[in-house]
Amino acid sequence: MTFTLPPLPYATDALEPFLSKKTVEYHYGKHHAAYIENTNKLIRDTHFKDCKNLEDIVLHSDGNLYNNAAQAWNHDFYWHCFSPKGGGMPNGVLAEKIEKDFGSFDEFKTKFAIAATSLFGSGWIWLVENNDGRLEIFPTANADNPLRFGRNPILVCDVWEHAYYLDKQNRRTEYVNEFWDKIDWDAATARLKNCKAYNCKSCFV
Ligand code: MN
Repeated sequence: MTFTLPPLPYATDALEPFLSKKTVEYHYGKHHAAYIENTNKLIRDTHFKDCKNLEDIVLHSDGNLYNNAAQAWNHDFYWHCFSPKGGGMPNGVLAEKIEKDFGSFDEFKTKFAIAATSLFGSGWIWLVENNDGRLEIFPTANADNPLRFGRNPILVCDVWEHAYYLDKQNRRTEYVNEFWDKIDWDAATARLKNCKAYNCKSCFV
């Protein structure tokens, strides 16, 4: 098999009560695993068959292969957005950028929550960095991935029903409100690329 399910960076119960052990077991062990398995099947008869870099497939494939490869990529990214010791507030460059581009951390959270609760059907709500270094909230439908739109992903919330249905049933808003409780802000900050272009103070200290 070309691609294998990347290890979960914590135990399956480590994000409780935000995500129950059962949710993580199904979401990671069944859904995420199936996207990897499907990607492996679908590349067999294509020019991607020897490709070892999932990102290349996400950037250059289409149709069913793109959907499965992007979902595999998106889920690995999603798990790495959290830490059992996460939560609290961003600091440093990311905190500055959020304040500059959204007004305040609270305004950012409100806008992100509105995007997450109003996205119709399945998809993802991303915090991304543009080429000019500005942050924006970027919703994508189904499997779509911001790399295809030239955006640098910083953070993501999976709003497919499978992400919250076992714990919250139809109450997506509750899931979105608790999303912040386990965010690994240091990992999010480390994903920023263009803070120099942005002229933030932290680049020059
Ligand atoms: Mn998912």
